Amino acid sequence: MFLAVLRSAAMKTLVAVGLLLATSLATLAQRPAPPPITIRAGRLLDGRGGAQQNVVVRVDGGKIVSVGRSNDPVTHDLSKYTLLPGFIDTHVHILWHFNKDGRFDTRGETPEDRLSAGIVNARETVVHGFTTVQSLGEAADLDLRKALAPACPPNADCVLLAGPRILTSVRQINERTGGRGNPDGLARPEQLRQAIRDAKAAGADVIKLFASGSIRDGGQQTMTDVQLQAACGEAKATGLRTLVHAHSNDSIRAAVMAGCSQIEHGTFASNDVLKLMAERGTYFDPNIGLVLQNYIENKAKFLGISNYTEEGFASMQKSIPIVIEMFRRAVKTPGLKIVYGTDAVAGAHGRNIEEAVVRVKDGGQKPMDAIISMTSLAAESLGMTDSLGAIAPGLLADLVAVEGDPVRDITALRRVKFVMAGGRVIDTNR
Ligand SMILES: [Zn+2]
Repeated sequence: MFLAVLRSAAMKTLVAVGLLLATSLATLAQRPAPPPITIRAGRLLDGRGGAQQNVVVRVDGGKIVSVGRSNDPVTHDLSKYTLLPGFIDTHVHILWHFNKDGRFDTRGETPEDRLSAGIVNARETVVHGFTTVQSLGEAADLDLRKALAPACPPNADCVLLAGPRILTSVRQINERTGGRGNPDGLARPEQLRQAIRDAKAAGADVIKLFASGSIRDGGQQTMTDVQLQAACGEAKATGLRTLVHAHSNDSIRAAVMAGCSQIEHGTFASNDVLKLMAERGTYFDPNIGLVLQNYIENKAKFLGISNYTEEGFASMQKSIPIVIEMFRRAVKTPGLKIVYGTDAVAGAHGRNIEEAVVRVKDGGQKPMDAIISMTSLAAESLGMTDSLGAIAPGLLADLVAVEGDPVRDITALRRVKFVMAGGRVIDTNR
């Protein structure tokens, strides 16, 4: 008797679940496509150097369909603001965070702890206008990306977490990667080529290489010219871009000559090597305004962990005027493609725009050039000009509105009032 009741209860539940599934599928099929969204912008900077006043951007199916004049009522009236393409940061470490005691040491944490911290960082990043980031990077970046954009059927009410589009290197490669079995521990060219193929198989969008040591350790060249040629050559052959951490002048030159795609940091770049990058079309991402300053502001949270020593901090402090002086020469180098990247680590997420403020105020860059560097030029560096980096028909609807005119005052970029990522409005107040 009891069993029968149970069975019938189970039966009822099954029927109920079946009905629910049938109705929700029917609702999905019947639900009309979301209506087009229209946005009125008081001022529009298209990300390619163009500026217009009082225009309406029409968005449909997550993409921009038109940009033009209209007096019709709009979905979002942003006539008091300046509308720009979503900002792109080509160098972040999206999962880096401080532990529950406010320290950088996260060795005792679970993968879930790391993912939760990444979700917080992702939200901080996107609400401040950065709709795309390139994380350089670790395998868990892939888990974060999945958590932010779960696979769900079209028009379904999936719970979506706010975060930027994430590209990741999945791993970092240096002079020892794959060479553990060798007597000297250094990787042979074929072992580096294998490491590149392994990264690609693991889902890497880009390759991150270390051609020099950390600035905390002096930044001297660590990968040989031959190693760089093997790594960047193989990456190119497999269709991947290479971003190379390089501080010393020799390490930058070696990476450029090896055909690598982009140089990170570039602290000790000479005029000759800046010119060489321009001639070779190598993207340059000097990180002058956020990463070093953030380490110093949060010194107590890092100090005593790995190479975050007193000497390391002294070296970082000393580097700030050096990188600013280097940047002032970089902006005067004809044809040099200076792209936007912050190297955002723990404590810096959500403050990615500070790099632009320093590049303009201390580094002598024109505000419009800074804006282009974080929109169309950044998209070009990612090989994504067809979908990102400008307000133009056919591109993804990644849009940011700020208060004020950033061409006159770059700090206007700090005052983000509206963010749309892939046609979806992000609640920036929550
Ligand atoms: Zn980095």
